[in-house]
Amino acid sequence: ALTAGIVGLPNVGKSTLFNAITQAGAEAANYPFATIDPNVGIVEVPDDRLNKLTELVKPKKTVPTTFEFTDIAGIVKGASKGEGLGNQFLSHIRQVDAICQVVRCFEDENITHVSGKVDPIDDIEVINLELILADLETVNKRFQRVEKLARQKDKDAVAEYDVLSKLKANLEDEKPARALEFSEEHWKIVKGLHLLTSKPTLYVANVSEDEIGNVDSNANIQKVRDYAAKENAEVIVICAKIEEEISELDQDEKAMFLEELGIKESGLDQLIKASYSLLGLATYFTAGEQEVRAWTFQKGIKAPQAAGIIHTDFERGFIRAETVSYDDLVEAGSMGHAREKGKVRLEGKEYIVKDGDVIHFRFNV
Ligand code: GDP
Repeated sequence: ALTAGIVGLPNVGKSTLFNAITQAGAEAANYPFATIDPNVGIVEVPDDRLNKLTELVKPKKTVPTTFEFTDIAGIVKGASKGEGLGNQFLSHIRQVDAICQVVRCFEDENITHVSGKVDPIDDIEVINLELILADLETVNKRFQRVEKLARQKDKDAVAEYDVLSKLKANLEDEKPARALEFSEEHWKIVKGLHLLTSKPTLYVANVSEDEIGNVDSNANIQKVRDYAAKENAEVIVICAKIEEEISELDQDEKAMFLEELGIKESGLDQLIKASYSLLGLATYFTAGEQEVRAWTFQKGIKAPQAAGIIHTDFERGFIRAETVSYDDLVEAGSMGHAREKGKVRLEGKEYIVKDGDVIHFRFNV
C-alpha cells in the first residue's frame, strides 16, 4: 500500500499527531497488522458515500478502506551530511510515497523550538534544503554514470543527461524537483531516480487549541499558505493536541466535540483525505447484501486490475464489470431501479475505473 510520511523538525507536534493517527485507527477498528511496524499508523478513510450506500443496501457489514501514515523521526539541519542520524532519516523518507510536512505555528514558551523562535517558513526551508542537498548528491552521482554514454550518443543516456541537467540547475537554485515540469517520458526518468523532492508534498500547519476555531487570526498560517501556493501544495490546518483528544472519542462524542469547537471536519480527517488524493488514490465500492465495502485504487487503472485488488482470481478470470456511478445509484434509490433506468453499464477489459463507481465483477473461476 502507498504511504505518506509524517516529517518535521523536532518539537513541532509530529508525535502528537502520530498518536492521534494510531489511536484513531485502533479506535475505529481492530487492525491486527497495525502492531507489526510501530512507525506505521493505519486509519480508515472517511467517506460519507459509504454511509449513504449502507443506508440504501442495508448490508450485514460495512467495511471502509484504509490509509497508512508512516512516522519519520525528527530531521535536523545537516541531515544530508549525516548529522543527527541524518542518513537514516533520509532513507526513511525515500521509502514513503508522499510527504506530510508538519510545521509549527503554535506559540508556547514552555516548548523549546530548535532554532529558538517560531518561524514556519524558516522551518520549512531548513527541511526542504536538506532534501534538496540529498537529491543534488544523487543527481551528481548519476551524472558520472551517464556522462560517458551520453557522449557516445547512447539514446537513453542522452535523455537522462538532459533530465539530470535540468534537475541539477533547479536544485542548485534551491527548488524541489516536484516544481519542474517534464514530458511524460522524462518524468519516468525522474521517477527512476527516487528523489526526495520529487515526492508529492503537503504542509500540515499545527496551531494552538485556542486558534483552531479561528485560523485566520494566525499570521503564521497565512505565511505557510503563501509559501505552499508557490509550489501548488496544499495546507491542512490542525491542532495536533486536539486531534489527540478527538482520537479517544467515539463517533457521536466526536461529532459533538467538533460542533462545540465550531469545526466541520476534524483536521485528521482532512489530512487523510488530502493525502489520499495527493497520491492519486480514489475509491470504488462493492455493495451486496452481505457487505458494502470501499476499495482503494490508483486513478487510471482498468477494470481487471481493479478487480485484482479484491482477489487475484477476479483479475485472472475477469469477464466484465457491472458498473453504476454512486450518484446514479443514489438518484435511482436502489440497484433494481438503477438497472431499470439503464444506469448500470456492462464494462469490459478496457474500462478505466472512476472514483465513486459501484461495481459488481463477473468472472470465470
Ligand atoms: P515532535 O518532536 O515533533 O514529535 O513534537 P511532539 O508531538 O512531541 O510535541 C512537542 C511538544 O509540543 C509536546 O509537549 C506537545 O504536547 C506540544 N504540542 C504539540 N502540538 C501542540 C499543539 O497543537 N498545541 C500546543 N500548545 N502544544 C502542542
